[in-house]
Amino acid sequence: MRTLVTGGTRGIGAAVARRLAADGHDLVLGYARDDAAAAHTQAACRELGVDCTTVRADVTTDDGIESLFAAAGDLTGVVNNAGATLHIGTLADTPPDVVRATVDLNLTSALLVARAAVRVLGRSRGGAGGVLVNISSGAATLGSPGEYVQYAAAKAGVDALTIGLAQEVASDGVRVVGVAPGIIETTIHADAGEPGRIERVGPLVPLGRTGRADEVANAVAWLLSDEASYVTGTTLRVAGGR
Ligand code: NAP
Repeated sequence: MRTLVTGGTRGIGAAVARRLAADGHDLVLGYARDDAAAAHTQAACRELGVDCTTVRADVTTDDGIESLFAAAGDLTGVVNNAGATLHIGTLADTPPDVVRATVDLNLTSALLVARAAVRVLGRSRGGAGGVLVNISSGAATLGSPGEYVQYAAAKAGVDALTIGLAQEVASDGVRVVGVAPGIIETTIHADAGEPGRIERVGPLVPLGRTGRADEVANAVAWLLSDEASYVTGTTLRVAGGR
């Protein structure tokens, strides 16, 4: 098993990487800027006895996606995880360049990473077959009013990607599935401008708390495994009932 995780060095992606390392996956972890986090996650995965390569490559560029997949080589799995909310506010108050950047990162890049993934995994092109997991968000069905409608709309696009692409590549030995996390304890919220979001939203979740990155990682690991061999074209919500 050899799995590429975009945004695999911090937050949910890093938890996925550690969980997959424990399951015996060799890893390729993509990231954008944070070299220290990449080195930290790489060391943690190597300690679990697997091969782990990190690749600094911006998935919002064609060159970045190309260099990431060139470095990855043959794969059996891809976790399409890199993403960010970028900004918190109403759509009317969100600058146009932020709307474009949000859709570019969370939808256009997700589409292009998915495209590259099925080209490397598909048996008709010499791949071994495998699994693509798209990281969506509970926002895709909630719409995120007052917070980031543009991000929710982009993630709804990711859910459509999962449904359509799964049917395109099912006969090529590739399953395409999604995971839609709710509010998970990572720095994504502080980075978008609201460090207290976890404390504000946690009590509104039916399970009474926000989620941990390792709880999302468990779902990703199961979907990548043969235990999910009859699961494709669907998105699993990991959101505490919200
Ligand atoms: P995070 O902690 O901010 O980590 C983001 C990761 O993505 C980092 O490794 C980052 O690299 C990488 N990344 C960001 N922009 C990139 C780019 N342009 N090119 C390549 N890599 C890039 O985020 P997270 O909370 O774990 O979120 C991971 C995924 O889960 C995202 O798709 C997010 O939308 C989704 N999600 C999160 C939540 C939540 O509550 N946390 C809820 C639902 C869905 P650097 O370290 O170099 O910046």
